[in-house]
This record gives sequence, C-alpha cells and structure tokens, in this order.
Amino acid sequence: MSTPTASAPATGGRPRPTPPVRYRNFIGGKWADTTSGKYAPNLSPADQRVALGDVPLSTPQEVDAAVEAAHKAFPGWRDTPAPVRARILYKWNALLEQHADEIAAILAWEEGKTWSEARGEVMKAANIIEFMAGEGRRIGGSTLPSELPRTFVYTVKQPLGPVAIITPWNFPIAIPCWKMAPALIAGNTIVFKPATLTPWTAQRTIELLEEAGLPPGVVNLIYGSGSAVGDQLVRHKAIRAVSFTGSNEVGTHVYTEGAKRLLKVQCELGGKNPLVVLEDADLELAAVATSQGAFGSTGQRCTATSRAIVIDSVADKFVELLAALAQKVVVGDPLQDGVTMGPSVDPGQFKTVLGYLDVARSEGAKLVTGGKRTGADHGLFVEPTIYDGVKHGMRIAKEEIFGPVLSVIRVRDFDEAVEVANDVDFGLSSSLYTNDVNRMYRFVDLIETGIVHVNSPTVGGEAQAPFGGMKGTGVGTREQGAVAIDFYTELKTVYADYTGTKRTTNIY
Ligand code: NAP
Ligand code: MG
Repeated sequence: MSTPTASAPATGGRPRPTPPVRYRNFIGGKWADTTSGKYAPNLSPADQRVALGDVPLSTPQEVDAAVEAAHKAFPGWRDTPAPVRARILYKWNALLEQHADEIAAILAWEEGKTWSEARGEVMKAANIIEFMAGEGRRIGGSTLPSELPRTFVYTVKQPLGPVAIITPWNFPIAIPCWKMAPALIAGNTIVFKPATLTPWTAQRTIELLEEAGLPPGVVNLIYGSGSAVGDQLVRHKAIRAVSFTGSNEVGTHVYTEGAKRLLKVQCELGGKNPLVVLEDADLELAAVATSQGAFGSTGQRCTATSRAIVIDSVADKFVELLAALAQKVVVGDPLQDGVTMGPSVDPGQFKTVLGYLDVARSEGAKLVTGGKRTGADHGLFVEPTIYDGVKHGMRIAKEEIFGPVLSVIRVRDFDEAVEVANDVDFGLSSSLYTNDVNRMYRFVDLIETGIVHVNSPTVGGEAQAPFGGMKGTGVGTREQGAVAIDFYTELKTVYADYTGTKRTTNIY
C-alpha cells in the first residue's frame, strides 16, 4: 500500500492574499481595534509556523456596544421593505462571486480545506444569499376563514430584533451566510461572533456586505473567545434569538442558558453519518461516495461519512475498492495544485483525531489503511484512515471524530443496517446505495436523519432545500430553504372585525 504524500510549504501554489496584521471588530458601521490589547494568533493549519494575523479578544463593553448598535439599527431595517433589503443581498451575492477565488484562498489557508473545496463553499454561500434575496418578494403569511361575520383573519411574519449568530470554523463562510441571509431579509439586525480559528474569512465576508451598502449597525462583527464573548451574547437581554452551529457540548450550554430566559434558540450540532451499502448496490459508486464523504474537507464536515454500514456478502469487495481510493488521496498544503486533502484545523482537533486512532487500536478495529500522522512536523496532517470490522458499540462507531477516519461496520441484512444506522445519538445526514426501489423508500421511512441521500454522498445540499438534523444533532427549525425564515420571524395572527357592531357570538 502506498502512503499519501504530504508537503506544507508556506508559499507557492494558488496566489495567497496578504493577511491583515490584526483583525478588527465592526460595530455600528465602524471598524475598530479591540481596546483589550489581547489577541490570539491565527495560525495556518498546514504550517503552524505561519501566522495569518492576530484575532482580537474583545472586551465585555465591546460586546455591549455591538448589541447596542444592532438594537439601534433595528427600527430602520425593520421598516425597510423586504424587496429593498433584497437589493443589498443581491449586491452582496455579486461581490462574493466576484471575489470567490480570493476568499477561497483565504479560507483554505486559514481553515485547511483544499482551494477547490473552499471555492465550492464560497459559491454555496453566494447561492444561499441569492436565494434569500428572492425570498424578499415572497415572505408572506396566510389568510384564513373566520367563523365570525365580516372578520378578516390573517397571519404576518415579523422580524424579532437583534439576533446573535455564533458559528464554527469548519464552514466559515457558508454557515454565517446561511444564517445572516434569512435573518437580514426578514428584517432582523445581527451580532455575528465567528469562530476564533477563522477570522479572516469572516472579515472579508462582512467587508463585502458593507461594500454592498448595508446600513451601519445592521450587522456587527465581534471577535473573541466563545466562553467570553459568545456566552455574553447569549445572556444579553437585548438579544432576541441565537442561531448557533457547533459542537454538542457548547450547543447544550447555549440551549440551557437560552432556556433560562425562554430565548428562541436554534442549535445545529454534530453528526455520525452513515452510508449504507446494500448487496445490490453499484459498489464502485458507493466506494467513491464514501471516499468523498469521509475524506473530503479532511472529514471536518458535520455531514461527513463516518460509518459505512455494508452487507457482509459485498463488504470485502467494497473495502478493497475504498482502500484503493483512500490511497490515491494526496495529503498536503491545501493551496497546492494536486492536493486533495488538507490538514486538521488546529492542534486540539489534530490531537482529538490522533486520540481516536489510539481508541480504534485499543478497541480492536482492523486497520485497512492510514492510521497515523503524516507530513512535516509543523503541519497537522493525518492519513486518510479506514477501519474494518468495527462493531457498532465501539466508541469510533458512535462518537463524532471530525477527521478523515472511516469505520466499516459489516451487517447481515437491511434490517440490521437500519438498526445500526439509527443506533447513535446524532441524526444529521445518511445515504443509501441500492437499486431496489422498495428498500429505498423503506429506508427513507425508517432512517432517523434530517437529510437522506439515495445513491449520492452524505455531504452536500442545495440552497433552496431545508438543512438540519434530528435527535442529538439539534433543536429548532431547519436552516436554508424558505423555511429558514421561520426561525427569524414571529408569526403574528391578526383578527380585523369590520362589522362596526359589538360582538354577539362567543369564540374561544
Ligand atoms: P464549537 O467549539 O462548539 O464552537 C462553535 C462556536 O461557538 C465558536 O464560534 C465558538 O467560539 C463558540 N463558543 C464556544 N464556547 C461558547 C460558549 N460558552 N458560549 C457561546 N459560544 C461559544 O464548535 P467547533 O469546534 O467550532 O465546530 C465543530 C462542530 O460543529 C462539530 O461538532 C460539527 O459537527 C458541528 N457542525 C454542525 C453543523 C450542522 O449544521 N449540524 C455544521 C457544521 C458544523 P470560539 O471559536 O472562540 O471557540
Ligand atoms: Mg486558523
């Protein structure tokens, strides 16, 4: 078996934009340095010797100022007609498309996914903004019949006020945009706290929104640690809702804090996504999809394929095909041409992944390929790794690893496959490979995931389609698609009596 190649030069490959010396908060339409004087370095995961600017650790007063700016900007933005708000979103979309190559390089450099994966993410963000801008002419309520005479009953969707948007590093442009676009088109104002690991992508995203003509205070960007700035935002009385994407640990904390004051909270959390291969499946297609889902974006996707659940009779062949694909993966600097898989995002995530390789060893899983770190010492690279003979009670079969590590679980039949697929706390995405239409629909009936793919990888989704998970993957209404607007609006029910007389019928 060949070993994946690795290299991590700090220069060369795709053009690298010049990083800022330090990032700045954007509050009330003004870019400003933090007054805390405290910063965290933004280190490149491909080469930890390379620092891409300093990230401010903002003060509590700056958090208050950001919320205050959002609060002040709210009445003006609320009263701006939605189709007029949409014009700014269309401009933002055009600017993102225009700067897609540059932002992709920034994203790949600071986060570690390959340049082409990063470019795909930028285009996903642009698509969502374009879709949501279109919703500006469609946000509506319903009209209802009344049992009273000459009474008009209707519903209307109204914005909430200032909302907090707290996002992870693994989709540093798509996730902020799939939250900000519906919040904005619905008329809310925003305090956005990006992940500390990916400040540059956040800054460029907001700079382009400013360039698109967004009024001051409508979106405010505040950097700082989750436990300080994030927590303060969740507790802030003027914040009317929190949309959070990240880990289960932090999401549970955010949801608990929000519950204390009955705050509207949406949490999109982890996954342990299964790809099920039935005996009639096209094994080559299934193997390619598994490789894309398991090793794409270094396995650092909430929708990553982390379990292949395979009917025993075809498992040997499937694993052979999959191992050959894993060995073709070229690990290295994400900005270099030809590299197909980048590093883990930071030393913490890297250590977690290496820790799971130890767990797999101690649990007795059979290593097929990979299984160790690779490349230069200053990069956070792990080989694409496959374990066979994984029993579904093992930790590597149940816990989110967030690295390029796949567990193959062999099962007897369709029923056992579904049982194993559902026997985890998470429920984000799943995939079934089969040509049997009956078992396909039965799988859709039974699988406990918010997104189901048939003969396509567990990863990926379209802007107009709802996205989100079941069970431990999250709470709150779905993101993306037209339904995303629901989280960012209150549904107001209106009864208008035009009889001009006193009511004679009781209604309850
Ligand atoms: P994380 O550690 O939970 O961080 C997410 C965000 O929360 C960051 O901005 C973080 O700030 C902030 N935060 C940390 N502690 C906080 C607190 N006490 N109060 C408020 N905010 C706080 O998650 P991550 O490691 O960045 O992201 C990976 C996770 O996200 C994985 O579990 C993945 O599955 C999940 N994810 C889910 C989806 C989905 O849609 N279901 C999509 C993508 C990712 P700092 O950056 O400063 O720590
Ligand atoms: Mg970084």
